[in-house]
Amino acid sequence: MNPPRPGTFVSRRRFIGNLSAAAALTLLPRRSLALDAPAPKKKLGVALLGLGRYSEYELGPALRKTKHCQLTGVVTGSREKGQHWAHSYGFPSKNIYSYDTMGSLAGNPDIDIVYVVTPNQLHAEHCIAAAKAGKHVICEKPMATSAADCDAILAACRSAGVRLTVGYRLHYEPHNIELCRLAREKVFGPFMKIEGANGFDMDSDARASSVWRLNKKLAGGGPLMDMGVYVIQAVCMAKAEAAPIAVTAKFGPVTRPEVFSEVEESVSWTMEFGDGAVARCRSTYGEQVSTFRAEAEHGWARFEEPAFYYDEPFLTTSLGPTDFPKVNHQVAQLDGMALEIIEGRPSLAPGEMGRRDIAITDAIYAAARSGQRVEVRS
Ligand code: NDP
Repeated sequence: MNPPRPGTFVSRRRFIGNLSAAAALTLLPRRSLALDAPAPKKKLGVALLGLGRYSEYELGPALRKTKHCQLTGVVTGSREKGQHWAHSYGFPSKNIYSYDTMGSLAGNPDIDIVYVVTPNQLHAEHCIAAAKAGKHVICEKPMATSAADCDAILAACRSAGVRLTVGYRLHYEPHNIELCRLAREKVFGPFMKIEGANGFDMDSDARASSVWRLNKKLAGGGPLMDMGVYVIQAVCMAKAEAAPIAVTAKFGPVTRPEVFSEVEESVSWTMEFGDGAVARCRSTYGEQVSTFRAEAEHGWARFEEPAFYYDEPFLTTSLGPTDFPKVNHQVAQLDGMALEIIEGRPSLAPGEMGRRDIAITDAIYAAARSGQRVEVRS
């Protein structure tokens, strides 16, 4: 287990946590493939937008270790914080922007990518502003709080000719990449029975430092939007990135109404796939849990607990333990995404994938509210 860092809360930070290449390629605008871009610089410049806990404790430190990109600017509501980051990371004060001055990013060659790390509901506004400034966009998960907002982000990036990826760190992590391979190559046959859960205990420390996560408008929902998206991603990985055809869902009991007056405290759901596979999933703010297992006719795969932590996971299959290196998730993701841009390759985590997952969360909420089976609209 990782030691807690100052200013973070233990339960949260412990848990924070392919379209086919051909399909993704066809969805990318030509300019984003860098075919007609000038010769690539040695390292791409990244501006972090939103200097909260994930930026401060994970992405910033990771950008000190990356080989293919580096921190060259920030967008923040606090000039003072921006100055502190500029001093600490060694970029000039001219590269500190506010949310209102993002338009002038357009003239700044130091910054190639804007990485949006604000509360969920603000992702759409900030991604669209970055795209309009002509910068490639990495959007933190969940991509947005509605499929309509995802469509608006995708349209803005397409029309600006910039690349859009979602901060899905697990797609760049070796054990998860192996799960994708097992699914794609049907090594054990197609995975037909899948189970996963992810959540943490939203104790009073967590509440104090995470107020927007309990705000329906800013968060878009409760644990499903925060921790549940990891389970959805893992299930889709185990189905070779297919989307489910339908879901059922049920909200759990509200045991602390004073805390969960706007968002759900917990939710369980099923995902039903075209080949008959079914995934049973759960996400909660009431308990620390992080598990994943997928079964096929001729074998199984599971992530040892905790399945979705930063420093894990560890994949075991019916053939025995696997032997893949342990990586820093954020370094792997940032370097992976930078290289995809530099080399003009399709992304492992394109915007279309983020949109797929929000269509699924939309359906899960509709199913939980209605008590009905809901088809997933792609
Ligand atoms: P924080 O609350 O710690 O930080 C959010 C930052 O957004 C603030 O510090 C602030 O930065 C900026 N901001 C702008 N407008 C607002 C507003 N109205 N209310 C609050 N903050 C605002 O959140 P996190 O860093 O934990 O999460 C940010 C995003 O990152 C979320 O989408 C979350 O899902 C995602 N995330 C992803 C993780 C992963 O493993 N992939 C892990 C953790 C989070 P400033 O003061 O600079 O303006």
